[in-house]
Amino acid sequence: MASGKELYENNKEKLKKLLDETSEEFQFADFWGNLASIKKHREFNEDTKEYVEKYVDKLRPMREELVNNLEKYTEQAMKSIEKTDAKAYLAQTNEEAQKLFLQEMGDERILYKSKSADAKEMGILDACKKKGIEIIETDLGDVLVQLFEYELPSYQLAPGVHFHPSQIAKKIKEKYNVDVDPNGPAIGSFFRKRYRPKILNANISLTSANAVAADDGSIVLVENEGNISLLTRLPPKHIVITSISKIVPTVYDALLQVNMQERWNTLIGSYISFIRGPSSTNDVYGQKVIGMYGTQEIVVILVDDWRTKAVKENSFLKEFLHCISCKACNYVCTASRAVGNIYASKMGLGAYGIIKDYIHNGIESAVKNGLFLCTSCENCKNFCPVQVDLPKIMRELKKIAVSKNLTPPPLETYLQNIKTKNNPFK
Ligand code: SF4
Ligand code: SF4
Repeated sequence: MASGKELYENNKEKLKKLLDETSEEFQFADFWGNLASIKKHREFNEDTKEYVEKYVDKLRPMREELVNNLEKYTEQAMKSIEKTDAKAYLAQTNEEAQKLFLQEMGDERILYKSKSADAKEMGILDACKKKGIEIIETDLGDVLVQLFEYELPSYQLAPGVHFHPSQIAKKIKEKYNVDVDPNGPAIGSFFRKRYRPKILNANISLTSANAVAADDGSIVLVENEGNISLLTRLPPKHIVITSISKIVPTVYDALLQVNMQERWNTLIGSYISFIRGPSSTNDVYGQKVIGMYGTQEIVVILVDDWRTKAVKENSFLKEFLHCISCKACNYVCTASRAVGNIYASKMGLGAYGIIKDYIHNGIESAVKNGLFLCTSCENCKNFCPVQVDLPKIMRELKKIAVSKNLTPPPLETYLQNIKTKNNPFK
């Protein structure tokens, strides 16, 4: 394990990149600071404002009901999904989820995907790459990230949003030798022409879910681009991989959750899909035939991993299960707005990304990715539509880091001063 000093020096090196205006870190931080400043004021239009004010107080009680009865709702969701003629698996670990996913891929060597932060986090994409499966991104943000071979953490809701249109047009010229005007419509049109025919020929698609309704097994997905609608209707097989914390008690709760995920970000998507099993018909003599014009097979892999354990042990991570993954806390985060994606992990910006990093990669990785850059300002908790106590979770992580001798040297000095002189600054 690295020492607190080594990790501190590593963070300092990363922070130096912010002084270089040509660095990718500077570009991201500069963009993020501006975007977050606009978003944090939540300039809701009248419809959005009315919805948010009317329903936001229902969100925390709904999430508490789920978290306090997680096993019950997981069991109910599994049964409900099976009733929709979809196949349902409950994977106890990420590794089990990877095996199930590869089993469901069979001999297919191309995977089309969208909205798959869960799949990335659970190691599904890495497992596919190891098996030589080609992964075709369809979400434009992910397509841009892939185009730029961008390895740094991005904003999960729009991972390529910081690339300037002139940079994108230049990259398209470099990679495809096509001249595209450096503006949104021209770039959108280029990718539409390129990806639409591919999606139409896909055999297997992968998505995550914004919510899963325990009472009727609906898989709920929100989007703007239309790629998810196509990917969940056209390929013969659709695999959904998501965590049990996406389950909500009822289909009405699912609508509440997805609406709040969007509107808290001042966004309203073009499509909300409620998917209850594969396509079918009863038109031939009243017989149910599965697989009419839409998808013929749906497989849902719900992943537990650390979640029911956190509830049973009442650990500090239980609080994190209330999160609806709207990512809006990043707009108000003091650290994120100052240093952009230096305070982040591959799983996301800010506290959200650091906590996920701790869960999957351990405390050393969380410190390396900037745990101690959190200022404990509590802006994230105050802004969160579910009042998730991220600062408390971060304090617990800092305690673990200190117990493992990963304290940054300046804080270690304060600690020693408190112990020996009753004053951190002497
Ligand atoms: S913790 Fe952040 S991502 Fe989770 S619900 Fe709250 S604002 Fe959204
Ligand atoms: S408490 Fe930490 S994670 Fe939350 S807003 Fe402040 S700096 Fe960001």
